[in-house]
Amino acid sequence: MAIPIYVLDTPAFIVGIPCSLTDKLYTVPGVFLELSRKADKERFEYFQNAGLKVQSPASKYLEEIELKAKTTGDSERLSEVDKSLIALALELNAVLITDDYSIQNLAEEFGISYRTVSEKGITEIIHWELKCKGCARIWNEPHQTCPVCGSALKSSRKKSDK
Ligand SMILES: [Zn+2]
Repeated sequence: MAIPIYVLDTPAFIVGIPCSLTDKLYTVPGVFLELSRKADKERFEYFQNAGLKVQSPASKYLEEIELKAKTTGDSERLSEVDKSLIALALELNAVLITDDYSIQNLAEEFGISYRTVSEKGITEIIHWELKCKGCARIWNEPHQTCPVCGSALKSSRKKSDK
């Protein structure tokens, strides 16, 4: 079975993802700019270190999205970042991870499947934790080194209880 491809909207970096860090994860450059809190930016970088790819969609897909958005009336409600996310999902044949109804609406027009970050019934939400190699403290927010003893940190996925 092919490894699923996901395109992540902004909430994925704030709330969490209903998929795995070992899946193929993509997002567009504008999403990073929408993150205002330091912890969320650090989480974005943490995802990048885990393999997240940040890429813009090819212009022909973006044009296709623009055109369709005008006919459905979603154009006004969608930001440039929103349209880029849908275009990238179309280009990569990926599943969109988004909580935005206008994005979901337009995604449906193209037959792009989507999941929300707060979706009911998801089997695994990724929470990330970092364990200090020195003092063994667990950190839930990303740090470069242990804030207590300065040792290197080892990242691991913490699965939510079912
Ligand atoms: Zn430590």
